[in-house]
Order: sequence, then structure tokens, then C-alpha cells
Amino acid sequence: MQDSPISKIFLEGREFYVKRDDLYDPYLSGNKFRKLHSLIHTPTQTYSTLISYGGTQSNAMLALAALCKSKGWEFIYYTKPLSKEQKSQQGGNFADALCLGMQHIEIEDGLYREFIASLRLAQNSTTLLVDQGGAMPQAREGLEQLAREIRNAKASKELPFEAVATPSGTGTSAFFLAEALPEMRVYTTPSVGDSAYLLEQMHYLGEIPPNLMILESSKKFHFAKPYREFYEIGKKLSQTGIVFDMLYAPKMWMMLLEQTQESLLYIHSGGVSGNETMQLRYAKKFGITF
Ligand SMILES: *Cc1c(COP(=O)(O)O)cnc(C)c1O
Repeated sequence: MQDSPISKIFLEGREFYVKRDDLYDPYLSGNKFRKLHSLIHTPTQTYSTLISYGGTQSNAMLALAALCKSKGWEFIYYTKPLSKEQKSQQGGNFADALCLGMQHIEIEDGLYREFIASLRLAQNSTTLLVDQGGAMPQAREGLEQLAREIRNAKASKELPFEAVATPSGTGTSAFFLAEALPEMRVYTTPSVGDSAYLLEQMHYLGEIPPNLMILESSKKFHFAKPYREFYEIGKKLSQTGIVFDMLYAPKMWMMLLEQTQESLLYIHSGGVSGNETMQLRYAKKFGITF
């Protein structure tokens, strides 16, 4: 597998570099590609089935569906009950994952927590449980590879960036990247909950690396909700010639523009396939067309 390329963009008069992890595959790209690196390199006969759980438009779900299809593994995915509207949606991550062979099982709200906890017992030598968002210790390997690519690119192409940035959900990607790249600051921002919640999630992975910088907004944004501010920054981002995801990227870019000054490399975290359903929601809320 080749190193992902680096592009240069201009945003609000500043120059940024972008590591194009979005270019690997339409479904299995960005930080999901990095986090699933060890599974991508696992021999096919190791497992027969992968199980996971979480959101119905999750990028991790789609990446796992694509991975299982390529490996010939069964993929079983558990969620809370879906609305009729969600079930009938034509495009988007959920519909795409079903097309890739995902078996979807709904678990009643009241039983969900307990059921998910019990999944750990369903694991055996040929069935692997992947936690929500692909948050697993094996993710370290892929982010070490990313760190090597960043280090090599900076040295061999003499790029001037002094720090890197990538948005967080579970924080797995930013955490392992910071650990593997101690010589550079790694900026991130929480997309789900606040900094305290993000730190709590990261503590499961180990001691927080000192070069990991969490940027926080003064305004509270709820995950996956459409915001006018995100739309505005999204519009500027769309003029760079690179398509960014509409869930995680807008807040990260807002924070970088507001709170940093140095030359930066943004690690594209993928997730562009989810834009279709987000655009529908923006259209509904603000009457905006794309
Ligand atoms: C999953 C995802 C993230 C969050 O990654 P974590 O490792 O869970 O922090 C960020 N950006 C995009 C586009 C994603 O799909």
C-alpha cells in the first residue's frame, strides 16, 4: 500500500497541508482505514464473522462492511431501532453497508446497554467483536504507519508544517497518532461531548501523550446536528477542491482557524460518504441546497 499523498490548500488566507487519507477507498478510507490496518492485513481464514454496534450512519460501520466483503467474513451490526424514514433511505452509509452484505439487527432501547455488554461473551476464536467506532488497541499499528508517513514526507519533501490536526470521535486516532509522533503537536477537538468526555475515553487507551492538544469551542455543538457555522465553514472548504466530511471536519477547521497560528498538516479523516445524508438534513433545517 502506497503512502497517501499530501495536498496544499488555502483557507482564509492561510496555507495548510492535507494528508489525503480520503483517497484510499470510497468506503474504507480516512482514519477507519488506519484504525483497521491490522485487520486489513489479517489473513482471511483467521475469522468467519465480525460483530459490531453503534450508530446507523456510522463511518466505522461502512468501513467494516467493506472490509468484511473483501475478506468474505460475515458482518453483523447491532443498533437501536431505526425509524421508518431511516429504513427506507436510498443512499447513505446504512444503505451502502447493507449492499455490501451487512446483516443488521435492531435491539430494543431498554435492552440495548445490557445486550451490547453481553456481546463480549459472543466472541470466540473465529468471531471478533469490534467496539463502536473501531476503538480498539490494535488501531495503534495503523496510526504508527501514518506517523511514519508524516515524518518521511516532512523530511523528504521539506514541508514546513510544524504540527498536525485531526478531529476526534472516540479519540482513538488522535491518541495513537500523538503517541506515535512525539516530536510534533497533534491538535484535535471533541465532536461527541466535551473535552472532559474525550479525555475520559482516551484514558482507556493509556496515559494522555503530552503533545496531544485538545481545542475546545466556547459554543457547545451536539454531535451530528446541522449548524449554520458548520455550513459556512463547509462552504469555504468546498472551494479548496477537496471534499471534507460534514460531521467532524467543520468544527476541527473552525478551531484551527481560531486558535492556531503555525503551519499545519490536516489529516483527512475520510467520512465523505456520509455527506449525502447530512446534506439532506441541512436542506431540511436551513432550506439550503448543495
Ligand atoms: C470516525 C471518524 C472520526 C473520529 O475518529 P476517532 O478515532 O473515533 O476519534 C473523525 N472523522 C471522521 C470523518 C470519522 O469518520
